[in-house]
Amino acid sequence: MIAEKFEQVFGRRPDGVWRAPGRVNLIGEHTDYNDGLVLPIALPQQIVVAGAARPDGRLRFASTQGGDVIEADLAALTPGSVPDWAAYPAGAAWILRESGYDVSGAELLVDSDLPTGAGLSSSAALLCASAIALLGLRGIEVAPDEVARLVQKAENNYVGAPVGLMDQMASMCCTKGHALYFDIQEMSLAQIPFDPAADGLRLLVVDVKAPHRHVDGEYAERRRSCETAAAQLGVPVLRAISVDGLDDALARLDDEVVRRRVRHVVTEVARVEQAVELMRAGRLRDVGPLFTASHVSMRDDFEITVPELDVAVDTALAAGALGARMTGGGFGGCIIALVEASATESVLAAIEKAFADHGFTPPSPISADPSAGASRIS
Ligand code: ADP
Ligand code: MG
Repeated sequence: MIAEKFEQVFGRRPDGVWRAPGRVNLIGEHTDYNDGLVLPIALPQQIVVAGAARPDGRLRFASTQGGDVIEADLAALTPGSVPDWAAYPAGAAWILRESGYDVSGAELLVDSDLPTGAGLSSSAALLCASAIALLGLRGIEVAPDEVARLVQKAENNYVGAPVGLMDQMASMCCTKGHALYFDIQEMSLAQIPFDPAADGLRLLVVDVKAPHRHVDGEYAERRRSCETAAAQLGVPVLRAISVDGLDDALARLDDEVVRRRVRHVVTEVARVEQAVELMRAGRLRDVGPLFTASHVSMRDDFEITVPELDVAVDTALAAGALGARMTGGGFGGCIIALVEASATESVLAAIEKAFADHGFTPPSPISADPSAGASRIS
């Protein structure tokens, strides 16, 4: 299918097709820049990139979402030189070239069934799929975690988004039926069994379709609070504070808001550890209350939820979910809910009704089987 579209746009068959999935974080929010722990899964929804090499160093990008073909010269790429969405594939080409990989010019066609701007990391998926396409076209092998590190630099320095490494790692390194336990301080990865369907459960992901409000400013403010607190506590990052040491740490902070920010980060890291222990023990249902505690912490201490997220979570819980929380950076995006498979329809119907009652935009559910990381399709 994408090969035919590629031929319509570029007048020849692609040399290959690659894919990289979106992700949803199960637990561990706003812990990444505190050198904490995160636990994402890859989604079945993904970015697909069909590509063909060009010997002349010319780059030509097209998206099935429409718009013109956007062109650039590989040798002339500098941050800011390619605008709009094509900054992502251009950024992938730029970082590979900057890092000494012998990539060539190329034609790339991007297709996707991943909602954009919903907090499911279509940006990282687009970077990852573009990077493995450009490498694959030249037969260059690079380890998945190294591709993740490279494209994070592209998202930071080419696209200009100050994102952490979780999204790219998830898109590159997740495996089917597992969550990816990523310790940012240790830079270590572990695959944790997470297969709700095998246990008669479902993980629901619901895009609450809230307009993102002041996200960049709020994000910067939360980061600053965490840095200020770490400095006052005399530690390099908040990861250095354990739950056992939390009360002592809080007593040494004079600002009430900063105290709550710290309490979220420290307890959230502990919740990730507890969730991983429960999953390793096969006690998936017991993970639900940790999701809910995480949401309460983000609502009351970190203050990154919005009414749509709170209504979706409260409604899911009232309709029988084992646990629910907002996921992602906050101020919009998605919630996740762990439910008995038999309760899937009733929980989704309850959220839809609650949104209608509140006059919110109808929410949009997304299927969320833990899926495989990026790969070549053909
Ligand atoms: P998220 O990563 O949560 O989806 P971002 O704002 O970080 O949201 O990234 C979304 C951007 O990624 C879009 O505005 C667009 O520039 C780019 N993008 C994602 N998917 C596609 C696609 N299929 N075609 C073209 N651009 C895309
Ligand atoms: Mg993004």
